[in-house]
Amino acid sequence: MYDVCVAGSGVAGATLAREAAKKGLKVLLVDRLPANRVGDKVCGDALGSHHVERLGLSLPRESYFAVYPGIEIYSPDMKSRLSIVAEGLSAYALNRVEFGQFLLKLALDSGCEFRSETHATGLIIQDGFVKGIKLLNLKDGSKEEVYAKVTVDATGSSRILSKDLKTLGFDQELDDDETLVCYREILETEEAPPLPTIYLDMEDAPGGYFWVFPEGENRVNTGLGVVKNAANPRLLFEKWVEKLPCLKGKIRRVIHRGGGVVPARRPIDSAVWNGFIAVGDAAFMVNPVHGGGIGSSMTGGFLAAEVIAEALENGREDEATLWGFNAQYMSKYGAKQAALDVFRIFLQSLNNALINYGLAQGLIKSEDLLKASMGEKLRLNITEKASRFFAGIGKPWFLARLNKTAQLMEDFRQLYINYPSVEGFREWRSRVRVFHERLHEEIGRA
Ligand SMILES: Cc1cc2nc3c(=O)[nH]c(=O)nc-3n(C[C@H](O)[C@H](O)[C@H](O)COP(=O)(O)OP(=O)(O)OC[C@H]3O[C@@H](n4cnc5c(N)ncnc54)[C@H](O)[C@@H]3O)c2cc1C
Repeated sequence: MYDVCVAGSGVAGATLAREAAKKGLKVLLVDRLPANRVGDKVCGDALGSHHVERLGLSLPRESYFAVYPGIEIYSPDMKSRLSIVAEGLSAYALNRVEFGQFLLKLALDSGCEFRSETHATGLIIQDGFVKGIKLLNLKDGSKEEVYAKVTVDATGSSRILSKDLKTLGFDQELDDDETLVCYREILETEEAPPLPTIYLDMEDAPGGYFWVFPEGENRVNTGLGVVKNAANPRLLFEKWVEKLPCLKGKIRRVIHRGGGVVPARRPIDSAVWNGFIAVGDAAFMVNPVHGGGIGSSMTGGFLAAEVIAEALENGREDEATLWGFNAQYMSKYGAKQAALDVFRIFLQSLNNALINYGLAQGLIKSEDLLKASMGEKLRLNITEKASRFFAGIGKPWFLARLNKTAQLMEDFRQLYINYPSVEGFREWRSRVRVFHERLHEEIGRA
């Protein structure tokens, strides 16, 4: 019998396993990948250094290609550019496999047991508790049931174990507008942009964006995410390559190509049940505006390990005891995600003309966008000139809606900051639902 069994050795699972083992718990970590491929995931591979610092990690040099002092965002007409550069902030261009190997090694060094090429196929549920996990050995096809006091779903966006639970909190699926379907290539190129660059375009990247993230002078990680069922991201990718001067005619070779899914929304309403916790993409821990989830998933894994250790020390693994994880995650990151989910809905309602106008008029300054993405209140720069401008183009409602969005972001954040106890969950959840439905009515339509 293990204390903790973690399915999935991505950034969330490996972090949780490491922290739990460090606290003296008996931990089993499994992944369907061969050990030397752990970390191999289609991703933009950008990670804000503040996440690394917050977790007290020191990255070995081989786990990243480069560090950049900021990021640039272009309007659809390419006429406006926001440079988000601030002192003390930087972004790693990760070498994702090496980074994954580093996190796995830390977990192993902490004393956690690891099984590679092992597929988690389902949960063992008895007497209203998750008691462990069903495993399939991908090398020899053998099956096994492993028992643990707490089982963790860290299988990423497939959420393979959470889908087994139909309990309140886990009974939710992603809506199409919350699902970013991505296509990505790693390219060797003649040159690379000086900073990671994002291109907004509601026609050629509907509901998402196109990115070119340099990984040194002659290599880029580039791709796009679009809302589910909007368009084929690969076909759109080919269009982008033809239209961007930094890529057109400058590609020497394709190093890797592939696809993936990002759950871009507020966190799951509850990530715990009796003997069970979900972390990372499996619990929707991604920033809904830029789709980054590496840092927040590691934070989720870290917090979950603390709550599990404390619960097991008290001989408890029931939902009410593990509930502390929900409250902790919401206060550390989930409330920010909720606010940004409001902003996402607003952004997805815009067309290219409005984004062009908004950025050209400087409605949001770079530093304010940076602060908002770090969880601070969204500050707007609405001048008399901008008001006249939007009235002049027959869209006076645009500024009112932007103001309304900022207010709703704050209101939604407060709802998550005041995350309830297990007794108040049903009532809180219905308030979230009503609020969220209202959002689409009030700011989700152009
Ligand atoms: C195209 C794309 C670009 C992105 N770009 C960025 C970015 O630039 N920056 C950023 O911060 N975030 C980015 N993200 C999001 C980020 O990748 C995720 O939020 C993050 O990796 C989530 O971590 P995780 O540990 O929850 O899941 P994952 O990293 O997906 O790890 C899940 C692990 O579980 C294993 N697994 C899955 N199913 C099973 C099973 N049944 N049994 C056993 N093992 C299993 C997998 O092999 C994997 O190792 C991007 C995502 C995509 C798809």
